[in-house]
Amino acid sequence: MAEFDVDLFVIGGGSGGVRAARIAAGHGARVMIAEEYRMGGTCVIRGCVPKKLMVYASHVHHEIEDAAGFGWSIPAATFDWPTLIANKDKEIARLEAAYTANVEKSGARIVKSRAVFEDPHTLRLASGEAVRAKYVLIATGGAPNHGVAIPGIEHVISSNEVFHLSALPRRIVIQGGGYIALEFACIFAGLGSDVTLIYRRDNVLRGFDEDVRAHVRAEMEKDGITILTGCTVDSIEKHGKEFTSHMSNGSSLASDQVMFAIGRHPNVANLGLEKAGVAINPGNGGIAVNGFSRTSVENIYAIGDVTHRTNLTPVAIREGHAFADTVFGKRPVQVDHAEIPTAVFCQPEVGTVGLTEAQARAQFSHVDIYKADFRPIKATMSGRDTRVLMKLLVDALTDRVVGCHIVGDGAAEMVQLVAIAVKMKATKADFDATMALHPTAAEELVTMRTPSARHVREAAE
Ligand code: FAD
Ligand code: NDP
Repeated sequence: MAEFDVDLFVIGGGSGGVRAARIAAGHGARVMIAEEYRMGGTCVIRGCVPKKLMVYASHVHHEIEDAAGFGWSIPAATFDWPTLIANKDKEIARLEAAYTANVEKSGARIVKSRAVFEDPHTLRLASGEAVRAKYVLIATGGAPNHGVAIPGIEHVISSNEVFHLSALPRRIVIQGGGYIALEFACIFAGLGSDVTLIYRRDNVLRGFDEDVRAHVRAEMEKDGITILTGCTVDSIEKHGKEFTSHMSNGSSLASDQVMFAIGRHPNVANLGLEKAGVAINPGNGGIAVNGFSRTSVENIYAIGDVTHRTNLTPVAIREGHAFADTVFGKRPVQVDHAEIPTAVFCQPEVGTVGLTEAQARAQFSHVDIYKADFRPIKATMSGRDTRVLMKLLVDALTDRVVGCHIVGDGAAEMVQLVAIAVKMKATKADFDATMALHPTAAEELVTMRTPSARHVREAAE
């Protein structure tokens, strides 16, 4: 009898787990992958993809409003939430089937079950069956935080539930100032809801460039979203179908839904990690791993959100691929976590890569700051009150572009491409030598000739 049933057991059929399973199977490994909910994981089932479909739905509102300036008269438009949700669900089911088919085509075997450790080489399935594996990959992702158990917390929805509401809320209160809170505030505002965003500190998107934060807030407020800062939701009462949120500043707000988007935690609970001897990183609560995603146990690896490094789909996929190449492809690969581009799909969009101005000033003695804040061409005819922000940060001693930040339509698409240049260590001279493509917003990136400021670090700083 063979010592092991499989060479690799993957726990979790999300972005990272699926990539790892397919690549390892391609390297000839006998692979089993367990998924307790739906193949595709957070990104496909209740994250990036359904979110982006809803972002598109919400953009239509602006397009209709903007049409008049271009000569179109459009009869009063109506929006039907159940149609959006049904069409979105159909697309998600199609993607789930495609993920399943691709895994099966690779030769890996899917088990639709929860899996937990019995010991470092044994996994127990919900059926009670035990599977012995030479290597185990933990790719269990993360889940929404609910925060402290305030009175009425049971009435609060998270990003898990928001994709399945039976009706569009006429009024919604969203707590949080990060990716999910801003994206859903803009989705609901675009679809016609009255949105109030509650954030505990002074401004949203902490950790992003300060100019980006100020610009995004101003644009969202111009779009009719109420942003209350410096307070939290302390309790929620339900009266019939209505909720009253009581805030730490003493005020109260009535709404039809209350959503919290206050961060996510790694899925490490009840996995039997202690039976396997897998250590948790005390710094972030995720599974502790080295540069090759190996845990404290020789034959056990962990990738994606469960490690709580950079919680983004492309990162989980890259880590899964690197793991499979390292362990089964005889090609040790460490994932480079520097200069990861990221976007917040609020309206207007944020795209960013590299250092913020504060980080650049801390890291380099001389920093040139190039900034453009302008009205996009389209707005001149549509009459929309909106502005685009573009910002480049340059290490003035080497001329290298170390950060790029954009707020405006298409920011995510632009930053994906700028990220290539930044990763290649392009200089500002390289940007300047690139011919502009006219008329675009992106041409600003290659035509900003004069720095709007230069920061020189004082000796004592
Ligand atoms: P997941 O995709 O979460 O997969 C983990 C899987 O493991 C799940 O399917 C789960 O059911 C399963 N599982 C857990 N425990 C067990 C067990 N014991 N046994 C069997 N199965 C188990 N990232 C972006 O890059 N761009 C975006 O626009 C973006 N938008 C997002 C929007 C939202 C609302 C959310 C919540 C996230 C978003 N993300 C986005 C983040 C992205 O979804 C995650 O970073 C990514 O899905 C992580 O992949 P993963 O493989 O680590 O985990
Ligand atoms: P974020 O970490 O982006 O934001 C969490 C927000 O909640 C912050 O504003 C934080 O405030 C606030 N917060 C945290 N704890 C509390 C609390 N107890 N009470 C009140 N407010 C609180 O998390 P999200 O949930 O928005 O998203 C999770 C992750 O998913 C993201 O970090 C990202 O990695 C990924 N994601 C990526 C997307 C993309 O790529 N477009 C889209 C959606 C998600 P403070 O700033 O004060 O800490």
